Amino acid sequence: MEQQIHITLRYNIAIGKVNLNEIVYELKELRDPLMLQILEQVLKTYDDLIVERLSRTDIYPSKKRKGLGKHIRKDDPHNHFCRGRKVRKRGYRKKQRKISTVFGDLSLPIREVECLNCGARYSPLLSALRLGRYARKETNLEHEVTEAVIDTNYRRLIDGRSIDISLGGIHNIVVGSDIDETFKQPVSTEDLSAILADGTPVKEYQGRKGELRNVIGITKSGRVEPLGCFTNTPWPEIERIIKKRIKEAESYNIPFIYDGEPGLDDFLSDVAESQRCTWHGPRGLYHALWQDGLKKKESQPDTDKIKELIGIELPEGDFEILKEEDKQQVKTKYETSKSEIKDLIKTFYERGYRHGASYLEGLSDRLFTNIELWLKTGVIAPKTTSLLERVFREIGRRLKRIAWGWSDEAVTNISKMIMIRQYSRDKWEEYWKEKLGIKGYFDIEIESVIS
Ligand SMILES: [Zn+2]
Repeated sequence: MEQQIHITLRYNIAIGKVNLNEIVYELKELRDPLMLQILEQVLKTYDDLIVERLSRTDIYPSKKRKGLGKHIRKDDPHNHFCRGRKVRKRGYRKKQRKISTVFGDLSLPIREVECLNCGARYSPLLSALRLGRYARKETNLEHEVTEAVIDTNYRRLIDGRSIDISLGGIHNIVVGSDIDETFKQPVSTEDLSAILADGTPVKEYQGRKGELRNVIGITKSGRVEPLGCFTNTPWPEIERIIKKRIKEAESYNIPFIYDGEPGLDDFLSDVAESQRCTWHGPRGLYHALWQDGLKKKESQPDTDKIKELIGIELPEGDFEILKEEDKQQVKTKYETSKSEIKDLIKTFYERGYRHGASYLEGLSDRLFTNIELWLKTGVIAPKTTSLLERVFREIGRRLKRIAWGWSDEAVTNISKMIMIRQYSRDKWEEYWKEKLGIKGYFDIEIESVIS
């Protein structure tokens, strides 16, 4: 239905004195307040049109009232909707409705009607606008605030506009986001070339220290596929959630890369092959020997042996303050294990267990990399790729600016938002378009600007 808005602008111009910059500057200042007023006019007119249709049933057939006047039946204990679509005008609500928009805060007078069927009093504009009873902001604003938080320039968003939003309000937008409920579609391991996981410390409210933990997949084309972001969540819980998202492929030979965090030793071991292989080793050997014709009972002593050989425990505590004898103990165990594995490979060849032998050979140089590194440097196997490090640097840089004083949910959600916007830009745009519900039901154009 075509409508018009008439705008009259008044201006004073100091002839012979004004320059172009000043004119543009003042017009720029006008932009958001003008849009806010246009919005108000559009909404007021829409309210009038809706109420007119619902009250003048003598003019408008039910077809013209389609989608309008939805309300809950008066005094219905089950909150059923009323079928009545005929109303009497009851003027305006006592309180104007306040809605924060991307142009600033709007204070809108809203019509009230009385249903002639059930007697309920309601405001048909609100349901027509898909505004819930408690909605106080529109989604474009949420979008801009979110983008501003990610870019750490939210001050710029708020300054110079009549947007009344505090840091707490921004926090609520981030926490209230449904981002955590989305992007949960299954991921196939066939499309991934690796899975990486790591944690990074973050500062939260009252200076509390938290840990942000992220799991990402690297697709075969080298793209980052965020698998999950978590704050102060134990790794087993994270594993359970990630596993649900992963469609298990036939072969589980994608590497799982991590920097040696103890909680990640067997992480996703059903799906990916951890670089340390302490869990995978015995299981893989059992498989290989089975191919050589050995039953479980017959291969058991050898798989047990492998379990024992590779299960070298690293002493806890600071490497520097460890006693030399503790280090020596690890070193001795490492050297014995290594030579025993070599012996085992030889024995396998002698017995004709070719699968078992080549499996162990393939594994042997990866089995102790973390031990070797620890013995040399005291560092527990930092095997993260440069890609993962970059992802964390980017998240860390933003979190450092904005996460101070924030809660677990906020840190988790921001981290997820940053990841998806940065590495799955198309999905990010899709998500917002869906949320905004833009379907071509409103268009507006400038008809003429004259003086
Ligand atoms: Zn009713």
